[in-house]
Parts: sequence; structure tokens; C-alpha cells
Amino acid sequence: MTERVLTGDRVTGKLHLGHYAGSLQNRVALQEQYETFVLLADVQALTTHFEQPGLIRSHLREIALDYLAAGIDPGRSTIFVQSMIPEIAELTVFYSMFVTVNVLRHNPTVKAESKTGGLDDMYYGFLGYPVSQAADITFCKATIVPVGEDQLPHLELARKIVRRFNELYRPVLVEPAALISETSRLAGIDGHIKMSKSRGNSIALDSSPEEVAVQIKKAVTDPERIRKSDPGHPDICPIYAYHRAFRKDGSLEIREACEQGRIGCSACKGLIISALEQLLEPMRQRRTYYAARPALVDDILMSGTRRAREVAQSTMQEIREAMSLDYF
Ligand code: SF4
Repeated sequence: MTERVLTGDRVTGKLHLGHYAGSLQNRVALQEQYETFVLLADVQALTTHFEQPGLIRSHLREIALDYLAAGIDPGRSTIFVQSMIPEIAELTVFYSMFVTVNVLRHNPTVKAESKTGGLDDMYYGFLGYPVSQAADITFCKATIVPVGEDQLPHLELARKIVRRFNELYRPVLVEPAALISETSRLAGIDGHIKMSKSRGNSIALDSSPEEVAVQIKKAVTDPERIRKSDPGHPDICPIYAYHRAFRKDGSLEIREACEQGRIGCSACKGLIISALEQLLEPMRQRRTYYAARPALVDDILMSGTRRAREVAQSTMQEIREAMSLDYF
């Protein structure tokens, strides 16, 4: 059986370094080895942005540019738009018949959200989000899904749905395996555990060299370090997290120099600014190329979506046969 990877992003805004470290760079590597499907999850973006569909529309092309700039190769990866694959919505409805509300209530994302707003005010689409993720994964019979630890419960539900479907009807669906991302979350420049656009602590992938330098210069460091000779604590410093993520060979050296008070924070930041420039400059060049050719980007999205739709229709035919819903 051909191994197929399913990965993607909710279309809620431009991607940043946290996305690159946590998943994008992994996808660029995976496409060399596996058939890769990359989902632009615009329907799932509606769970939180249903009042601003115009924003999703503009973000979709921005993220497509981020993908292409980061090195996702449309010749190797199928980049497609979720809302243009109606079979995903169809599967979501079918699966929702045998997933209980209680199971969904215990999903960690749903649980966390219900703590703040309560279940009574939760939208049906948000509650059913893990079911629609199962549809994303199974429509293309993905065998591998790269996930962070926090996404494991979602994948486990998808696996349960597959087993349930196959037992109830016929073994049509494929149980996906998790590929746990080795890179943990990237800290934000404010020191928060997670870089995120909504917290205003991120560095966008399309940042100019000046913007990168400004963000790094204003990033927090070890607050106990006043003078260069003060021994530092790199594990609580976001700049060290960037060294680990983007200067793998030099990060041990930085750790020692910081802990022994041999490097100042300003010099340490200078090194990471240079490393980020080496990473981001080729991305800027690819972005400029594709941004100047919007028709080409649309072609890439259309042909990826067409390819994904063919796969979806074939799976849907099997699903309908298995469920005896193939009337005509
Ligand atoms: S020297 Fe580098 S790692 Fe250490 S506290 Fe300063 S910026 Fe952070």
C-alpha cells in the first residue's frame, strides 16, 4: 500500500516561524518520501471565523504563498481547498451518526473551550470539529498524520471512527498512524510557551529583514541577567529556543556561553538574526516569484483540489456501497 500523508492548516492567518519549526519544515521533508496531501482547512476556519468569511478568503492565498515559499512543491504535494471537496462534508455527517456527544465533550480542545464559555454556548460545528478532522484524514485514506502531542486525541478519535465504520459496514477505511513531531512548540518573543499571531508574539514567515531584527531585538530574555557576566538560564529564554530550532549545530555552544556568562544577549540575538536571514531569504525569493503570478497560484490550488476531489469521489463511492446507500 502506498503511504499517504495528510497534513494542513486552518485558514486563520499568515504562517509564522512557529508553524515552520513545528510542521512546515517537516512537510517539506516528508514530500520527498511520501505522497503528501496538504489541506487548506477553510471550513474548519469557519468554526471561529464564520462571521468573517472574507478574511478566510484572503488568508487562503496568503497561506498558499507561505507553503510555496517554504518549499512545499506542488509537483510532489497535493495542495487543496477543504470547502471544494464536498465529500469531506458528506463524510462528516455520516461519521457524526456514530460518535456520541459525550466522546466529543471529553476531547481536550472541546473541554478547554467549554471551561471558558460552557457547553451550552458552544457551536455545533466546534463540538463536531474532531469528527470533521476524521473526515479530512479518511477521505484520502491517509496512512500517516504528522501531529503534535496535543493533537493525538483527535487522531485517536479518527482511528476509532475508522474501526467502528469498518466493523459496522465493510473494511473500506484505513486506520491512520501518528507521526509525532520531534519539534515541540516554538516559544513566542514574549516568552509565552507558544508563538501565536493572536498573542502578537510571532514572527511571520514573510517578514522583511528589518521586521525580523525588530522582533528579535524586542524579545524577552532571561530576566535575571543584567550584565553579560551573569550566568544565564537558556531554558527560560525564547532566543535560546530559536537557536535550538534554527541553529542546531551552534545551540550547545550558545547554551554553555550563556550559562557561563561568556556571551551577551545582544550578541546572542545577533547570531539568531543572521541564522533567520539565511532561512528566510530563499523563502522571500520564492514568495516574490509566486506572488507576482497569482494565476499560477490559482492553477496550483485548482489542480490540487481536482486531484483530491477525484480521490474523495472514489472513497465516497466505496463508502456508499458499504453503507448500502448506492441507490442508482
Ligand atoms: S545569552 Fe542568549 S540564551 Fe542567554 S539569556 Fe541572553 S539571549 Fe537568552
